[in-house]
Amino acid sequence: MFELTHFIGGERASGGARFVDVFEPMTGSVIARAPLAGAREVRAAVENARAAQPGWAAMNPQRRARIFMKFLELAGREMDSLAQLLAREHGKTLADARGDIQRGLEVVEFCVAAPHLLKGGFTDSAGPGIDVYSMRQPLGVAAGITPFNFPAMIPLWMAAPAIACGNAFVLKPSERDPQTPLRLAELMIEAGLPPGVFNVVIGDKEAVDALLDDPEVKAVAFVGSSAIAEYVYARACAQGKRAQCFGAAKNHMVIMPDADMGQAVDALIGAAYGSAGERCMAISVAVPVGEETAQALIDQLAPRVESLKIGLSTDPSADFGPLISRAHLERVKTYVALGVEEGARLVVDGRDFRMQGYEDGFFMGGCLFDAVTPQMRIYKEEIFGPVLSVLRAQSYEEALALVNAHDYANGVAIFTRDGDAARDFTSRVQVGMVGVNVPIPTPLAYYTFGGWKRSAFGDLNQHGEDAFRFYTRTKTVTSRWPSGVKEGASFVIPTMS
Ligand code: NAD
Repeated sequence: MFELTHFIGGERASGGARFVDVFEPMTGSVIARAPLAGAREVRAAVENARAAQPGWAAMNPQRRARIFMKFLELAGREMDSLAQLLAREHGKTLADARGDIQRGLEVVEFCVAAPHLLKGGFTDSAGPGIDVYSMRQPLGVAAGITPFNFPAMIPLWMAAPAIACGNAFVLKPSERDPQTPLRLAELMIEAGLPPGVFNVVIGDKEAVDALLDDPEVKAVAFVGSSAIAEYVYARACAQGKRAQCFGAAKNHMVIMPDADMGQAVDALIGAAYGSAGERCMAISVAVPVGEETAQALIDQLAPRVESLKIGLSTDPSADFGPLISRAHLERVKTYVALGVEEGARLVVDGRDFRMQGYEDGFFMGGCLFDAVTPQMRIYKEEIFGPVLSVLRAQSYEEALALVNAHDYANGVAIFTRDGDAARDFTSRVQVGMVGVNVPIPTPLAYYTFGGWKRSAFGDLNQHGEDAFRFYTRTKTVTSRWPSGVKEGASFVIPTMS
């Protein structure tokens, strides 16, 4: 066991009156002790960021982008050890940990195009002798607060565009698995980023509140559960900061009677149970349309759920590993008990699964519910575990209405062979990210990522061009040089008529 540190001004820094244990979910044992930053440590990080930012913003954007290229090279070289670190602390399989890192690096790749993305507009001769142009300028210091479930991807989704735009960044990663983001920040500095441009403070609510209240922090990005997303959004906005806060999910997959059932079941099993269901884009609700479709789905799905291979992160044949913590494991099991109480039919019960030789690990097997209704809490609330609910719909319209009535609207999928049904669905569904015969429609780095309704608070999405808008502000200049005033002063408001 060892003690972790923050990363401030390009150096490891201790500090904080409180500590938290960091676990290895597959054994259930403590692997490190992490300090929890208080107001003093957060202030130090923000102050380092504030001091480093003007110099960073003054470096020309191509040189800044080259540091990202170097970072990509270093991170690529360290992929194996980063994945091991991430998998050990989070519990997801090594292959999935690589995916977590890779999806983060893809946003860094996108940010290499910052010199292009930061270009403004220019209008020559907008009026007699008048040119108008706009530029995108950094905000100063931006902060990011991230969840436990993607400890590489989400920190990079925030840090890379924020820094590429010329800001300095303070990351407050999840205190449950902070080692991968700490290493990524170190690698950025090794790649040539000036110290202070990327800082990491480990902490909980106290550190988050200190970031939200610090006047030097001009923008806050948050990803986590919806109640906290809403809280962070409200508190940040109340202090005049920009905020984009992404929350929880309950993603549906609608299976039409004409769908290829084998393909739908293959897609569903991975999307529902991969990473033990601890993904904001996991499918947690299947909606077969028509009784025949429902019966065929349950008949094919149940044996697949029963034979899921739960294993260690290091086992290449494992479908998924342990959950993040004992408390979360108990919470998920409590939801399963609640579903039974509420009258849903528990077709597969994975609660008693024990991993031989790892009895203290945070493992559970896959659970499958049938006959779930919209009134049940197991349907309304996010469970964030390996639990899939089946809600039977009698028609396409009923399935669509069900999806549209849910509070969460992160991702959704439809499985069908009918192009017209798919087209109607993509047009009318009230959800931010839609898959057609694709179960986890996570947009690529050059598109933007974000849900609707209670899955997101704020307007601009993560990564893609939205991120470059979020982390910059626009200045528009109207200019005329002295020769243009020969005709004398005007007292009438200028128009371009
Ligand atoms: P969480 O809300 O518990 O924690 C997220 C962050 O908020 C952490 O850094 C944590 O330290 C901090 N935090 C916790 N309590 C706080 C409080 N009271 N005040 C201020 N800050 C606080 O979420 P989690 O369990 O780490 O992550 C899982 C959640 O994240 C799920 O709900 C999942 O759907 C969501 N998620 C959403 C997306 C998305 O893009 N919409 C992506 C990934 C995860």
